[in-house]
Amino acid sequence: MKRVYNFSAGPSVLPESVLRRAADEMMDYQGSGQSVMEMSHRSKVYEGIIGSAESLLREIMGIPSNYKVLFLQGGASSQFAMVPMNLMNKNHKADFVITGQWATKAQKEAARYGEAHIVASSKDKTFTYIPDLDPSTFSKDADYFHICMNNTIYGTRYTKLPETGDVPLVADISSCILSEPIDVSKFGLLYAGAQKNMAPAGLTVVIVREDLIGNAMDITPTMFNYQIHADNGSMYNTPPCYTIYMCMLVLEWLKNEIGGLEKMKAINEKKAGILYDFLDQSSLFHGTVVKKDRSLMNVPFVTGSDELDAKFVKESAAAGFVNLKGHRTVGGMRASIYNAMPVEGVEKLVAFMSDFEKNNG
Ligand SMILES: *Cc1c(COP(=O)(O)O)cnc(C)c1O
Repeated sequence: MKRVYNFSAGPSVLPESVLRRAADEMMDYQGSGQSVMEMSHRSKVYEGIIGSAESLLREIMGIPSNYKVLFLQGGASSQFAMVPMNLMNKNHKADFVITGQWATKAQKEAARYGEAHIVASSKDKTFTYIPDLDPSTFSKDADYFHICMNNTIYGTRYTKLPETGDVPLVADISSCILSEPIDVSKFGLLYAGAQKNMAPAGLTVVIVREDLIGNAMDITPTMFNYQIHADNGSMYNTPPCYTIYMCMLVLEWLKNEIGGLEKMKAINEKKAGILYDFLDQSSLFHGTVVKKDRSLMNVPFVTGSDELDAKFVKESAAAGFVNLKGHRTVGGMRASIYNAMPVEGVEKLVAFMSDFEKNNG
C-alpha cells in the first residue's frame, strides 16, 4: 500500500490512525456485530457515538453550556440560507464582509431573505487580504454580522475579530475549525462543513447560542429550522451516521494523540512556517497573500508562469504530492495543510519545491 501526501482543500486528508481504527471496526463495531454504517441511528450503541462526538467537541473547543451543537447535512452552503432564515428575524438585516467566494455566496443567499449589507470587501485585490474594519460603518440594528474566518480559496484568515458589540457575530469556520483554540463565547453562531478538518464529507456542524434560535421565519422549511434539530438532538431525521462516527474518531485523535487545540495550533504554525519561510526566500515560487493575513490552513502560491505552474502540478503529483493545483477560479497552486497533514509532508513538499526550483530556475 502506498499513501500519497494529499494537499486537497476538501474533502481532505484524515489522520492515518483514524483510518486504521475505522478499518479495524468496519465489520464489528465494539462487539455489536455490525458496522456503524449499518446500525439504526436510534440504537443505544449509536446514541453512544453521537453523544461522544458532541461531548468531545464541547470539551476540545470549550463550548459553553448555553450553546447548542447541531450535527446537520447540506454542507456549509446550506448554512448560507439557514442562518438568515433563522437569525434575520428582528430587523431583517445583516452585515457581511466580503473576503472571497464563500463570503460572497453567504451574502448573496442572505440577500434573498432580507437586507444583506456589505460592510467591506477585498475584491479590489482578488481577496489577497482581510479588509480593515471600522465599527462605525457597521449596522447598529443588524440581526447578525457575518464573516468567513478562513478563506479556503484565497488563503487568508482573520487574526482579530470585528467589534460587533451586541450584534451576534456569525462565522463560517469550515476550513479552520479545530485548527487552533477559538473563544466560542465571542460568537452567536459558528458553522463548518466537516470535510476540511473534522471528518469525511456529509456532515455540517453548527454551534449556536441558545437564545438565537426559536424565531425562524415562517417560510423556513422544517429541516432548515435550528429549533427542530436542537429539540431532537440532531435526530429529527436520520443523521449522517457514519460521518459523525468518523468525526468522533478525529476528535479522539485530537484529544489523545495531539493533546488538544493549543498543541494543534503549535503544529499548524510549524507546518505553515516551513512553507511560508520557503516561499519568502524562493527565487521561483511566491505566496499570493498579504503576510499578516496568511492562513495557517490553505497556502496559495505561484511561479509567475502558467506553464511552470502546470509543470509543477504535474511533476509534484507524479512524486506523490497530490491535489496541489490552485482553485479553478484563481489558478497557480494551493497547499492545504489541515490538521491531519503531518509536518513531514510539508517538509518533503518544500524539499521537492526546492529541487524543482533548481531544475527550472
Ligand atoms: C468548503 C467551504 C464551503 C462549502 O462547503 P460545502 O460543505 O461544500 O457546502 C463554505 N465555506 C468555506 C469557508 C469552505 O471552505
